[in-house]
Amino acid sequence: MASILLLEDNDLNGDKLAGCLEFRGHAVTRVHDGPHALRAVVSRVFDLVVLYTATGMDVLRMLRQANSALELPIIMITSKDCSDGGVEALKEGANDYLTQPIDLNVALARIDKQLVLKKSHHDLNYEKLLLNCQIEVSPDGILAISNEGDWLSFNRRFLEVWDLTGQVSSEPAGQKGFELLLSKLSNPEHFASVLAGLADRPDERSWDELQLGDGRTLEGHSVPFLDPRGIHQGRVWYFRDVTNRKWAEEAQLETEIALGESEERYALAAKAANDGLWDWNLKTDQIYFSPRWKSMLGYEEGEIGNQPDEWFKRIHPEDLDRVKRAVADHLEGQSPNYQTEHRMMHRNGNFRWILSRGLAIRDEAGTNARMAGSQTDITGGKVSDPLTGLPNRLLFLERLEWAIKKSKRDKDYLFAVFFLDLDRFKLINDSLGHGIGDQFLVCIAQKLDSCLRSTDAVARFEQEDVLARLGGDEFTILLDGIKHVRDATRVAERLQKQLSLPLTVGGHEVFTSASIGIAVSATGYEHAEEILRDADTAMYRAKMLGKSRFELFDPTMREHAVARMTLETDLRKALERNEFLLYYQPIVSLDSGALIGFEALARWQHPERGLVPPSEFISVAEETGMILAIGNWVLTEACCQIKAWQSEFPQNPPLMVSVNLSGKQFTQLDFIKGVSQTLRESGLDGHCLKLEITESLLMENVEVITAMLMQIKALGVRLGIDDFGTGYSSLSYLHRFPFDTLKVDRSFVSLVGPQGQNSEIVKTIVTLAHNLNFDVIAEGVETAEQVFQLRAFGCELGQGYFFSQPISAAKASDLLAQRQQEWQMIWPLTSVGQELHA
Ligand code: C2E
Ligand code: CA
Ligand code: CA
Repeated sequence: MASILLLEDNDLNGDKLAGCLEFRGHAVTRVHDGPHALRAVVSRVFDLVVLYTATGMDVLRMLRQANSALELPIIMITSKDCSDGGVEALKEGANDYLTQPIDLNVALARIDKQLVLKKSHHDLNYEKLLLNCQIEVSPDGILAISNEGDWLSFNRRFLEVWDLTGQVSSEPAGQKGFELLLSKLSNPEHFASVLAGLADRPDERSWDELQLGDGRTLEGHSVPFLDPRGIHQGRVWYFRDVTNRKWAEEAQLETEIALGESEERYALAAKAANDGLWDWNLKTDQIYFSPRWKSMLGYEEGEIGNQPDEWFKRIHPEDLDRVKRAVADHLEGQSPNYQTEHRMMHRNGNFRWILSRGLAIRDEAGTNARMAGSQTDITGGKVSDPLTGLPNRLLFLERLEWAIKKSKRDKDYLFAVFFLDLDRFKLINDSLGHGIGDQFLVCIAQKLDSCLRSTDAVARFEQEDVLARLGGDEFTILLDGIKHVRDATRVAERLQKQLSLPLTVGGHEVFTSASIGIAVSATGYEHAEEILRDADTAMYRAKMLGKSRFELFDPTMREHAVARMTLETDLRKALERNEFLLYYQPIVSLDSGALIGFEALARWQHPERGLVPPSEFISVAEETGMILAIGNWVLTEACCQIKAWQSEFPQNPPLMVSVNLSGKQFTQLDFIKGVSQTLRESGLDGHCLKLEITESLLMENVEVITAMLMQIKALGVRLGIDDFGTGYSSLSYLHRFPFDTLKVDRSFVSLVGPQGQNSEIVKTIVTLAHNLNFDVIAEGVETAEQVFQLRAFGCELGQGYFFSQPISAAKASDLLAQRQQEWQMIWPLTSVGQELHA
């Protein structure tokens, strides 16, 4: 049913036509003049207009201005006497015309035809609208392009995905459009070549991924656009922003790859090591534990649920925080995978060492969805040393614990613990490299092992000795079931003898020895650590007593060890608390009796123990490295003090000072720099400083030491050999070093008796030293006879109680002041000779 407007004429009325149309079910509105007709069209929607009039021509024109022929079909009925009225009507935009008198059949047919056309146009329009609507709401950007490259149409989304919003007002034509698109791409050449390819194959669909300059990824689909005849007119493109999906995919892919790898790894590991597997759904907070996971801890399949607590409640309390932190760290993305070694309670009440590994699996949104992994029982690996395969500390202590228990039950049961430390391992490691060092340790392990087997297995029935490596070059032995302490010392002797034989490692013949400490169970121990500690203490004593020997532990050693520990702790605090001070011992010219300077000697003013001599702390300071700081302090203090005295008590030549050096200070790279800085800051002339070095220090690394000594000499500083005669160096050997002075050790000086007897050695040393151009200073000069003899031999300088004990700085100041008043800095030596001769 259509609604039809009928404009009638005064002379011709449309009754018949209207009746027919109405009969056919159409709604007919009849008007009688142009203005009414126009008003009707404005106020209502008509499907067709029939104009019955000659004056209808004006109406036609006006209607056509507002409505297209498709939107509003108009049929003109021309009057009988106007033959070319139809042609004119068509020209003015009528869809068709009828002539009078009207043939009703023809009229109805033509009206029907127009109505059908109109409807199909309407339908088409509707579809187009619908399509437009769909296109607009599409998540894809859509662009239709002609063969020539002109943009035919696009939707808003297209502008959005290409970031063209506001940049395109009308459809660009030809190359312009392409250029616009290419300008947005990070790799325009690629898209250009795609387009060129499609121009050659217009019938193909395409799919591509485009990378925009702003980092986003577009997926581009295109389909050929054919007209109804099937002729290729262009191409329609769909673009979709897939950046987010891409990321999600990549993340997923990574996870899958990682998971794939790890699953593979886990599968392998699981097969090889019989791992337990777990898979934790983080969203539901439930964990799947594999049967092996459960059996590893001694449980049957049904005995462990799927709550995370089944895992965490079995972790050793000391390890729990660490494990939880590792899991959290991984879930927060702070570690590439989760891995911990921790203890877990077995059903039998013991703890097992577990290696637990896992990986988080993230969903598309990037949030943690699952975490899955494996657990391996590494208790075995935990208790053995990977290098030698020997039991490690953990297992050794376990065995020791067991032995202690046994000794408590069985009063006759006795065992011994050896703590063995190789004497020169560091040297081997440093000189031959760690590879050889490792091989060497393996050889030692084998040697010790075979030694223990062969030892006195016959004598000690059912023995179950344990050899373990604690780390580095430290080995321990549990000598099981001995009868007497003698059994232990005999084994120690055997071990030392075996170890003293050379070993060939990596083509090198290596000699070694060991210091062994022995603790015997008879002393009544409660804990494994205690007996091990005592064996360690005894070993330390063996080292102190010259290495390559063994010592049996006795409780006084423990006191020593404690005392030493206390000393070490106190020493650490001593520097910052300013507890060190220097004593000065006068050095006197034996010829004139003049005071030429002092030797600075360190003292420690201990808050409880009082003044501590260097013999009690220098060696500890050397072992702990604290000597570096102490040595620096001594040097600075001595230089500043002497400089101050030089200003206060000028003399010619100026007062000088001797400072003792420890070997440790020498190995410091910036030692020379330190000395020159001290001289600069104190203002002391280098010639007024003498550094005393002991012989033994020189033997360790001749080239390096020589170079160092040369540099010290270059500062003008003088060098002296201390304690000469106590070492093994010959004088001619020492001649190679740039020394100025040689200090004859007190042990030789003290030999010189009241009658001048036993002075031959001193005489020889002085003569030889002079031949080699060294000055000689005698230390420990206590008697006038010694002074007399030394002077007779031509020994230049002397130092000792005969002149003065080491004295505090204050006393030294007094001494200097007193000497100055007497106008001479001399000891009354002239009388010495006279007395003796008298
Ligand atoms: P040393 O360098 O051989 O110092 C001489 C030691 O002999 C001093 O002992 C001194 O008091 C003592 N002595 C001096 N004259 C006589 C004497 O006539 N008879 C006897 N019986 N002894 C005499 P001190 O001060 O206890 O120093 C001992 C060692 O400590 C020094 O031996 C030196 O090797 C070391 N030492 C002292 N101060 C320092 C220091 O600042 N740095 C370093 N590295 N070592 C130092
Ligand atoms: Ca000295
Ligand atoms: Ca000395």
